[in-house]
Amino acid sequence: MLSRTSKAGDNVVTRPHEVSPHEFNPWIHVTSLIEKAGHVLGLNEGLIKRIVTPERILEVAVPVRMDSGQIEMYHGWRIQHDTSRGPGKGGIRFHPSVNVDEIAALSADMSIKCAVVNIPYGGAKGGIKVDPAALSRGELERLTRRYAFSIAPMIGPDRDIPAPDINTDTQVMSWIMDTVSMLRGHNTPGVVTGKPLAIGGTLGHAGATSLGVTICTSAILQRLGRLANEQRVVIQGYGKVGAPLVKLLSERGMKIVGIADIRGAIHVPGGINPLTMSEHYKEAGTVMGYPGSDEVPAEKLFTIPSDIAIPAALGGAIDAEIAEGMAASIMVEAANGPTTGEGAAILAGRNIPVVPDVLANAGGVVASYFEWAQDLQGYLWETELFQQRLEKTMHEAFNHIWARHQQLEVTLRETAIVVGVERIAEATELRGLFP
Ligand code: GLU
Repeated sequence: MLSRTSKAGDNVVTRPHEVSPHEFNPWIHVTSLIEKAGHVLGLNEGLIKRIVTPERILEVAVPVRMDSGQIEMYHGWRIQHDTSRGPGKGGIRFHPSVNVDEIAALSADMSIKCAVVNIPYGGAKGGIKVDPAALSRGELERLTRRYAFSIAPMIGPDRDIPAPDINTDTQVMSWIMDTVSMLRGHNTPGVVTGKPLAIGGTLGHAGATSLGVTICTSAILQRLGRLANEQRVVIQGYGKVGAPLVKLLSERGMKIVGIADIRGAIHVPGGINPLTMSEHYKEAGTVMGYPGSDEVPAEKLFTIPSDIAIPAALGGAIDAEIAEGMAASIMVEAANGPTTGEGAAILAGRNIPVVPDVLANAGGVVASYFEWAQDLQGYLWETELFQQRLEKTMHEAFNHIWARHQQLEVTLRETAIVVGVERIAEATELRGLFP
């Protein structure tokens, strides 16, 4: 696992501890992909090591006074993986599974993602190991503000810009923005993205990840000569990304035949109506029980007869077993890190193309870039401009990765990582080594 301390000259960070071969460690997975890309590009070992190693790892203790008056301790991290191309960028997640390896892996994914869509950012990520559903609103606010205070020296509009991720939203971003603004003594909207419109957010940020996933899904269908209205889709997750996807993909003629949330999975052979589902979810708080659906065990979601599989929930969901049983012939990764190394190898062996997370779900961070640019300018764009630029950025990124994929003859994931590493390497070499 990732070591938190490193001695001078002993780069322990790039030499993770032994873990069981059966245990999926996202940090080991992402570093091996980056190293492999470095070798494809013929980079020297020193440069590869520099690119792999996170620049800064901050671990913070987050004491919170609970409503009962007791003090509870939580732990959080903010990691800047690479800032050669610009300030660190990446979300903050609140989840019981958060740990330093996961956040480090996600921060490296952000470095690659920002480079793949060619926006002027490096990669970062943060999180607190906590189940926010168990907290009151007051406890959540105190937790967020204390964490924001503790990472404040490391973040800022020209340093590192957090955003929402799993279980964090516009309200959490507002508290972080306010805490940092109070500390700095002036309004600092550019310190986070994914804010409400009233305090420096942008039109179009909500749903931007799903729009990017939709653009990539349509683009790969077109490349493979397949018609949208002949595609059956299964989606794992009905949250911030999954829910808008049901609507966006249906609008393009695709039929959503299966969906899962934390309560289980359903099969709807005739297709899910986005409006009916949204109303059902509002009332029931789950996709389960959707009119006309058959309940299926959650682990069987991807065996539902379908053409496109979209994981839009937690990391590591597509392991060897799920990949073996996958019914779809295309996968588009809406979640971050949803596929294990073994899962990816099996999908590749079965010739199932995968549009990787660092491309497919990059719509969110592109939207964040536009929000940050507006904050720095103090000028709000109209929706049309936002939409047009988001679509252009995603199309250009997809087209570039596809063209390189044809040349390199490796998977789309490997291609995307090669492109990301190539751009990071170029910036790193141009800047040279200080001192
Ligand atoms: N959490 C999103 C992601 O993983 C957005 C990050 C951002 O906008 O900075 O891409």
